[in-house]
Amino acid sequence: MSVLIFVDQADGHIKKAAYEALSYGSKIAAQLGTTAAALVLGNVPSDLSALGKYGVQKVYTVNNDKLNHVDSQVYASVIAEATSTIGANVVVFSHNQTGKAVAARVAARLKAGLVSGACALPDTTNGFVVKKTVFSGKAFANINITSPIKVIALNPNSFHVTENGGVAEVTELAVTVPESKIQITNITKVLGEVPLTEADIVVSGGRGLKGPENWGMIEDLAHSLHAATACSRPVADAHWRPHHEHVGQTGYQIAPNLYIAIGISGAIQHLAGVNRSKTIVVINKDPEAPFFKAADYGIVGDAFEVVPKLTEEIKKLQA
Ligand code: FAD
Repeated sequence: MSVLIFVDQADGHIKKAAYEALSYGSKIAAQLGTTAAALVLGNVPSDLSALGKYGVQKVYTVNNDKLNHVDSQVYASVIAEATSTIGANVVVFSHNQTGKAVAARVAARLKAGLVSGACALPDTTNGFVVKKTVFSGKAFANINITSPIKVIALNPNSFHVTENGGVAEVTELAVTVPESKIQITNITKVLGEVPLTEADIVVSGGRGLKGPENWGMIEDLAHSLHAATACSRPVADAHWRPHHEHVGQTGYQIAPNLYIAIGISGAIQHLAGVNRSKTIVVINKDPEAPFFKAADYGIVGDAFEVVPKLTEEIKKLQA
């Protein structure tokens, strides 16, 4: 009996959500009186023993070129076999792009109950009850997982990273890596400075900006904060901004520490993609804009006046 945490990494860079999953999984192990281990796939970063800081005693690796790109079927096969080999009975993922593609497949292979979108430690006093967000974060559900193996996908930004462990033992795991049924012919990386789904701070613009020619001030503010840029759906639909910046129910769902919404009304479909942000700042000239209800801080004002002043002040603070 142990807890296995999948560590999401790309090009040797461990994603922020993976540290949250490690801290979360280690806490579950402590709660169950068992051990926690991490699983890292692909050409793995060096010095993985340092992951012990987040509470895992062991790090298992499957160092194989075929795992450098996420193929959900291949990943699911490898992770399910690793789970059985290790004898883990709780498997933790981040509920991010990779976790969403892989966790359910792993659960199906292991005949395990799955809770995706978990937002708190399970209550193990009477069963194994996991709290999760439902209806785009508008409500919570408590789900009791009754299967012997349990799979949990943790919402990004819902659990603090804690560093109170030591050095982990790193072991290469012998598992079968199946051939992929797909062939990647070309990869074009978006040349944004900060990937949207990984960004700590996101500066987002809506139709209130009037046109693509006005995005310079959004980019300036984003640069000053080392932030990623995002937009509402109509902005992407009108080709003012590329679709990979569109956030919301039908776009990316993000959970940065700070989300700055500029000239966005705050329609429910937009909020569905951003309401897990830790702090929301809204800049809108209409004091009745619905977004203010979801905001931690609000500025009622014309974006064309407020945003350049804000950027100027931030730059002064950084000088
Ligand atoms: P608007 O609603 O036009 O709002 C513009 C805002 O800018 C207003 O609040 C206005 O007061 C403010 N403003 C105007 N001028 C200024 C100024 N000078 N300074 C400051 N503020 C100013 N939308 C998404 O974003 N993401 C989705 O994923 C998504 N999915 C959808 C799915 C479905 C099935 C449907 C039906 C809709 C979806 N939508 C989505 C659309 C959504 O309902 C809204 O229409 C959209 O979010 C509105 O975008 P907006 O806030 O940029 O524009």
